[in-house]
Amino acid sequence: MAGETILVVEDNPLNMELVSDILEAQGYTVRQAINGKEAIQEAESHIPDLILMDIQLPGLDGLTVTGIIKDAPATTHVPIIALTAHAMRGDEEKAREAGCDGYISKPIDTRSLPQTIRQFLDATSESPSKESS
Ligand code: MN
Repeated sequence: MAGETILVVEDNPLNMELVSDILEAQGYTVRQAINGKEAIQEAESHIPDLILMDIQLPGLDGLTVTGIIKDAPATTHVPIIALTAHAMRGDEEKAREAGCDGYISKPIDTRSLPQTIRQFLDATSESPSKESS
């Protein structure tokens, strides 16, 4: 049931390639943004089914970008999963307060990533309000 579009926001080229390769191998369409400004433009122009959001970005940080995307009516429903290297207490809470729906710690567990993504996509598509308007 893959084929959904996932926007990957990541400024580190190696992480971007790693995540993109995994998702493409699962059959997802991957779109990429390497900073917050690009992420906002990309989310607006090609509304994705899910966003993987690096929190540590140059310029606008990922939490700020998440807030902007969640504030926009066209993209407020898009699930956003935060990616962060800071496995610190309180980080997950900060991510949720900013509007993130989930949280993945780096280094990314490449074996569990597909299942995590699938769970978020399935949770979204099971929502009765989806596709009704
Ligand atoms: Mn980063």
